[in-house]
Amino acid sequence: MSRMIVFGIAVFSLLIVLALSFHLNFHLNNERGGGVVGDEWKIGVMVTIPPQAEFVRSVGGENVVVDIMIPPGENPHVYEPEPGRLINLSRARMYVMMGSGIEFERVWMDEIISLNSEMLIVNCSKGIELINEGGGAADPHIWLSPRNARIIVRNICEGLVEIDPANRSYYESNMNSYINALDELDRRISEKLSQMECRKILVYHPAWAYFARDYGLEQISIEKEGKDPTPEGIAHIIEQAKSEGIDTVFVSPQFSRETADVIADAIGGNVVVIDPLAENYLENMGKIAEMIAAS
Ligand SMILES: [Zn+2]
Repeated sequence: MSRMIVFGIAVFSLLIVLALSFHLNFHLNNERGGGVVGDEWKIGVMVTIPPQAEFVRSVGGENVVVDIMIPPGENPHVYEPEPGRLINLSRARMYVMMGSGIEFERVWMDEIISLNSEMLIVNCSKGIELINEGGGAADPHIWLSPRNARIIVRNICEGLVEIDPANRSYYESNMNSYINALDELDRRISEKLSQMECRKILVYHPAWAYFARDYGLEQISIEKEGKDPTPEGIAHIIEQAKSEGIDTVFVSPQFSRETADVIADAIGGNVVVIDPLAENYLENMGKIAEMIAAS
């Protein structure tokens, strides 16, 4: 073989190796950044609280990578983000805000938008009838009604279609399947709770007003305007619970249960934990309905 041919083969092989490694790098980088994978675009989506992650994944399917701003176990009424979470914003193309007045969003939304002004901002509360908490403020816990969740996933679907109109039918069919699952959940909860005799539920943190409205229940909360009750307040709740025949105090895992334990002791009842922020929304809401029905 002539030297020219050997040299030619060597150069050609080197070019192939370079091309392959470039290709590989390109894929690795983009998978990390939520960019192009194969021929598809993965859309980076940032959400405020864990249940929204299930909503976005259910509609976006294979095409989305979801990050949660307030990690599981944190309390969105007081949470402040670490710098690392804000860096994740740079790869998001869409921010899904609850829009119902969660303290975290009221304090941080302007900062979040200024860090990545290219993001499409989706407001989950668009089209949802808010409950007033008194003092002109809305109750922010809109997602705890499966009927509201239907509207929330429609808002999310609209946002994804705006970013990626080519996949409209994929997002819409995913949305319809999830809405069917929400309707089924709604029917199951209605059926379970319709048999409850006492229509009042005693909760520490008042997260359940939308849920109570949908299923004909009344929420009595121990916490008043974000604060632990006074001793007189506690005495009043104990008296009320006794006269209504209430023997369960529901608490959220994000809050201290000290006061709830005191009240449960006084009424000879139990403390039961229900999580308003679990990421596995459908499963969690089904479980919560069972626990309320059994109370
Ligand atoms: Zn809350």
